[in-house]
Amino acid sequence: MSHPTDLSYILNHLGEDRSQYFDAVIPPIVQSAMFAHPDVATMRRRIGDEFAEYVYTRGQNPTVAIVARKIAALEGAESALMFASGAAAMAAGALAVLRAGDEVLCVDKPYAWTRTLVKKHLAQFGVTSRLIDARSPETVAGAITDRTRLILLESPNSLTFEQQDLAAIAALAKARGIRTLLDNSFATPLGQSALNLGIDLVAHSATKYLNGHSDVVAGALCGSESLMREVFAGPYMTLGAILSPHDAWLLLRGLRTLPVRLKQIAETTAEVLDWLEQHPKVARVHSPWARQEPERFGLTERQLKHGNGLFSIELRAERIDQVETFVDGLKRFLIAASWGGYESLVFPVCGVRDWPSLDFPASVPVGLVRFSIGLESADVLIADLQQALDRV
Ligand SMILES: *Cc1c(COP(=O)(O)O)cnc(C)c1O
Repeated sequence: MSHPTDLSYILNHLGEDRSQYFDAVIPPIVQSAMFAHPDVATMRRRIGDEFAEYVYTRGQNPTVAIVARKIAALEGAESALMFASGAAAMAAGALAVLRAGDEVLCVDKPYAWTRTLVKKHLAQFGVTSRLIDARSPETVAGAITDRTRLILLESPNSLTFEQQDLAAIAALAKARGIRTLLDNSFATPLGQSALNLGIDLVAHSATKYLNGHSDVVAGALCGSESLMREVFAGPYMTLGAILSPHDAWLLLRGLRTLPVRLKQIAETTAEVLDWLEQHPKVARVHSPWARQEPERFGLTERQLKHGNGLFSIELRAERIDQVETFVDGLKRFLIAASWGGYESLVFPVCGVRDWPSLDFPASVPVGLVRFSIGLESADVLIADLQQALDRV
């Protein structure tokens, strides 16, 4: 028998009891809103521990539980809860921990909707916040007050890829009884073991690499069983932003190939990055693996175990219309938000910066163009980038 922590065991077998469903290789989509109990005593017992029992699909569902169990194991977590989106997972983590009068410290360039959560929605309920440059743990330590209850991290962030020293920040938070919540979507559990570094709660947009096929919006939150029980009894059950059994089944299918997809994408991206860094029309490449920024490598080497396909560039261009010409000229990259799928995407900040519902950080350069590399070959993508840069 394989060891239960072995990666292929987790992806191919963990949480799957085929004897429960005709020895089918693939688990069924248990498309049922609720579960019947053989007698009142069983009903009473199950409802008494809805975190662990099947009662109602807003709580637990067998198809969703399989994918939760696998993601928890990948993260090295005792427990995980699945959400309808990554945004719901982040919000649930914050809401479970915070009370009126508390303060949250948040990295200064988080995912845009995380920023909106903190600045707008938490503020409605009397939670104050400060966005801080968290690249040095000393700055974080200096920003803590006796009202600080949560530190919200995103390392690397998903536009400029700044990192935080997770072990150092987790240690200084723990010493003061402050909880830490990390958005680990970029690195995936294969790339960064944040719970091992002392982080309390790890959130994922499973829409990105975990699913990898651009056909599901999903989220996950991982942590100790006691913390996840708090989340379950609070925002999980009351807000009801749950993953549907069908979406869980699609996510399970995507998750099975996470290691091979990431390996392929990391190899292609390394080639594309090398090429872009030497191109005279590219002023700057933003990536934890960019050669131009060797000072980042210390943290990259310590914290990130796996490469991926997300990076941004700035062109040597005077005007934004030149950036638009470049992006419009790309034929193999779809212009779209999101990332982490099988297909290559390009996301120009100039296309979203003025979006009224988003409180977009002004510190993100308007000329920034983010790429998500998919499963195409490096040659195809480089040729496409070449012809689009020739137009600028
Ligand atoms: C997409 C994304 C989210 C939000 O996830 P959804 O699944 O779209 O709700 C959160 N954080 C990061 C870094 C993201 O890229």
